[in-house]
Amino acid sequence: MPLKAAIVPVTPLQQNCSLIWNDETMVGAVIDPGGDIEKIEDALSQVGVTLEKVLLTHGHLDHASAAGELSRKYGIPIEGPHEDDLFLIEDLPNQSAKYGMPVYGDFRPDRWLADEDTVEVSGMTLRVRHCPGHTPGHVVFIHEPSKLAAVGDVLFQGSVGRTDFARGNHEDLISSIRNRLFPLGLDIAFIPGHGPMSTFEAEKKTNPFCSDMAVGAD
Ligand SMILES: [Zn+2]
Ligand SMILES: [Zn+2]
Repeated sequence: MPLKAAIVPVTPLQQNCSLIWNDETMVGAVIDPGGDIEKIEDALSQVGVTLEKVLLTHGHLDHASAAGELSRKYGIPIEGPHEDDLFLIEDLPNQSAKYGMPVYGDFRPDRWLADEDTVEVSGMTLRVRHCPGHTPGHVVFIHEPSKLAAVGDVLFQGSVGRTDFARGNHEDLISSIRNRLFPLGLDIAFIPGHGPMSTFEAEKKTNPFCSDMAVGAD
C-alpha cells in the first residue's frame, strides 16, 4: 500500500495536522494545517515529501487557519471542506485575532467537497463523506485500500465532536458517525483532530456517545 501518514501536532490546541503521501512518488497532501507552519515544514523535509495539495476537514481555526498561507507559498490548491463551512472560513482572520493566534491571510478553497466525492493525492484516491454535526460542512477523508480515515473533529477515541458551536447539531453528528462512517468498515483506523488514533470498531463498541449501547441499537 503506497499511502503513508504522519501526525504533526500544531497550535496550543494540539490539533493533529496530518501529512499523507504516496511513498512511491514522495508526493502528498497536508490535512488540516491549523497553524505552526514551521513544524509542518520541518515534518515535510524530514520525510522528504513534496506537497501537492491542502485538504481541510472543516473551517475551524485550529484546523484551517494556515491553509491559505501554504497554498500561496507552494502554489497548491485547497480542497474541502463542504461549502456549508464558508461562514467559518470567512471569519478565520477575526477568530485568529480574537484567540491571539497568528493571523494568516484569508483564502477560499479551490474546490468545495460533497458527500461521495473523491480526492486524488498523487495517484491515490480518497473517498469523501460529508459528516455534519460538529460544523455543518465537515468532511471526512478515507483511503479504503489502507483502511485509514482522517475524521477531523467528528469522532475521537472515547468521545465525539462538540456541538455547542455555531450551527452545531448533536443528532446530525451521531447520525453522520453511525450512518456515514461505521458502514465503511469497522476495521478502519482513524486519525482524529485531537488525541490518539482509534478504530471504528472500538468506538462502535465502547464510545459513550455513539456506541451501539449508547444509541440503544444493540
Ligand atoms: Zn473543530
Ligand atoms: Zn479541532
